[in-house]
Parts: sequence; structure tokens; C-alpha cells
Amino acid sequence: MCGADLVEQSGNLACTKCDFVNYQNPRPTVTGLVLHENKLLLTKRAGAPFKDWWDLPGGFMDKGETPEEAIKRELMEETELDIRIDKLFGIYPGTYPSDTEPFHILSMIYLATSDSGDAQAFDDVCESRWFSKEEIPEQIAFDSNQNVIRDFMKVWN
Ligand SMILES: [Zn+2]
Repeated sequence: MCGADLVEQSGNLACTKCDFVNYQNPRPTVTGLVLHENKLLLTKRAGAPFKDWWDLPGGFMDKGETPEEAIKRELMEETELDIRIDKLFGIYPGTYPSDTEPFHILSMIYLATSDSGDAQAFDDVCESRWFSKEEIPEQIAFDSNQNVIRDFMKVWN
């Protein structure tokens, strides 16, 4: 801002002259563990990062939204499913790879149910499919979602 040099300070870049600090805070995201007839919804990513990888549905929170509103909106945008939120599954930190600079995310994971199995594929999703526990692919997009799947597999009956 003032043109002086920046130095690393507690993981952020701080100005050596004025009060400016370039905070590297994680960005909040929401993720859905959405079940229908005991099958889990995965969405295939239409673009980078992780293009063509299976992923859990979700995305970045919009300004002014609650996390519950955000996950319901994301599912409607990506799959046209009107999900019912059952409970918060957990909160997971992660990394979002980017061509410019990777950044950190903090994802709120919701267990949810869909009465309909008719999942569409729109927005940043090119395919939606329901997977039984045995069918879940080994590789899931994003380090955070890989951890979510690993933990969910332990409690999924
Ligand atoms: Zn400065």
C-alpha cells in the first residue's frame, strides 16, 4: 500500500513501514455428504483444479450466507437436488490448488438426505452419480474431501 517491503510475520506478509498486513486466512467452503437410499452422491469436476476427478458436491460460501444456506444453494446449482440437512459432520481444513497461488480453505461438512435420486450435472459439475460404499473411488478431489471420505467410511453402515 505504501510501497515499502513486506516481510513474513506469523504466516502473513506484513509491511515493514505501515500497519498493512496481507492476511492469508482460509476461505470458508461447504461440502455435502448427501445420501439417497444409502448411496453417496459424488460429482465429477468439469474444470480445474482436479478436472474430471470425482468430488463431493459443494463450494465457496457467498457473502451474507449461512453455511446451511450455502450447501443447499450449491446442491441446487450443481445437481438440482433439494436436500434436507441432517447434521454437521465436521469441519476440515484443506488446500485449494491454483495456477497462481494455492490457498487454504476451511470446509464445513454437512450430512444430508435427498428424497430424489434424480441428480443433474450443472455449473462446475459434468456428471453426478450415486455410489454404494463399495463403489467409492480411491481418489477424491481435494485433500480435505479425501479426509472427509476416509472418516465417513468408518461410520457409514
Ligand atoms: Zn506499508
